[in-house]
Amino acid sequence: MYKVVIGLEVHSELKTNTKCFCSCENKFGGKPNTHCCPVCVGMPGALPVLNQKAVEYAIKAGLSVGCRINEYSVFERKNYFYPDLAKAYQISQLEYPLCVGGGVEIDVDGKKKFVRLNRIHLEEDAGKLVHTKEGTMIDYNRGGVPLIEIVSEPDLESAEEAVAYLQKLRATLLYLGVSDCKMQEGSLRCDVNLSLHKEGEPFGTRTEMKNLNSFKAVFRAIKYEAKRQEEELDAGRKIIQETRRWDDNAGKSYSMRTKEDAQDYRYFPDPDIIPIEVEKTFIEEIRKNLPKLADDRAKDYVEKLGLTENDAKLLTNEKYVSDYFEETIKYFNEPKFVCNWILGEVFKKLNSLDDESAEIGISAQNMAKLLKLYHSDSIGQKVARNLLDELWGTDLDPEQVVKEKGLMQNNDTSGLEEIIKKIMNNNPKAVNELKSGNQKTMAFFVGQAMKATSGKANPKLVNEIVSKLIK
Ligand SMILES: [Zn+2]
Repeated sequence: MYKVVIGLEVHSELKTNTKCFCSCENKFGGKPNTHCCPVCVGMPGALPVLNQKAVEYAIKAGLSVGCRINEYSVFERKNYFYPDLAKAYQISQLEYPLCVGGGVEIDVDGKKKFVRLNRIHLEEDAGKLVHTKEGTMIDYNRGGVPLIEIVSEPDLESAEEAVAYLQKLRATLLYLGVSDCKMQEGSLRCDVNLSLHKEGEPFGTRTEMKNLNSFKAVFRAIKYEAKRQEEELDAGRKIIQETRRWDDNAGKSYSMRTKEDAQDYRYFPDPDIIPIEVEKTFIEEIRKNLPKLADDRAKDYVEKLGLTENDAKLLTNEKYVSDYFEETIKYFNEPKFVCNWILGEVFKKLNSLDDESAEIGISAQNMAKLLKLYHSDSIGQKVARNLLDELWGTDLDPEQVVKEKGLMQNNDTSGLEEIIKKIMNNNPKAVNELKSGNQKTMAFFVGQAMKATSGKANPKLVNEIVSKLIK
């Protein structure tokens, strides 16, 4: 039995207004090569100037995961040629990164684990190659966008743990507001280092898989690579230190090149950028203004809103869900009811979309209206569920839709009693069964009453009336 050892390098683009070392706009998309200047395409004589906001965001990220912030840090040139890198070097940090140490607690099936971080450093992104039928084009809009690279220690032991770790990091960055973490747009990417070894033996040779851009890809790539290495070792072959490309469609990885070490890049301090000295007061100011993260919000939900710990955790896993919940209860202050609906019906809907980046398709205000209708028994559960589907992705007002379509639940007891009496007269056998204590028969009456009222009867009322009538 081999032990799997995984370390992740997570790259996250910072959402500053401008790029890391020039004043070009930092924005995803745009016409190719329109967010560029002599600095970010590396024209001779152009001089970089560090964006203070990028430093602030990197420190913010560092503080939120318990890093020590280096008051002295240095930018270095990482030298290599690739067409998406106009300068033929990337400005990065090696010897003196901005943040060191720290860690993230993850929870996989109730088992908690602390994953140590090695460092978080600040660097610039490269441009993007666009492959077309005519040939490969280069778009430098992304070149020079500030990135943080978050490097973990090799503490992860499975694909499940790696994904939990990534989710936690992503959530943290989103709570901080320093990155939009859109994996599909590449603003959060992940390299996986993986090796196998036997208990008690030293770590094995590791391979690296680069630029995985969905949780699913990370999960599958790790499963695949662990199995591949196991088969190699069992066959008596050696693992080659290499960089592998994961092909998500094929579900396989391929060797790209033998892996380079840091010394291959001939790092040296960038003579155009003076070392950064961060003042203690600057760091403390950032620390003081850190927003509430998932765990803090979850604690509030338990203590102030009376939710269970588990529900609070599920609601705060994603910042936008937590924001959505908080906004919805501003319009409709029934936290437990709103929570149950979000964790139940809304999550079910989201899962059915099979899209990691899908978000809730109804405004919090309209959701509050829908839930008010349901909570007050103005509409039944079935209508409420259907409305969720119907309103998803629209701005339709639930109150208006219910009114226009006549979906109001029938809470008129006398009218309903007449209908139920008729059903009972027509079904003497079911009445006898119910009388003899077979409670399952109640579902039959509720079903019949719903049918007779086109789904508008209030099931609770039907239940009450049937119980009263058989006495
Ligand atoms: Zn520029």
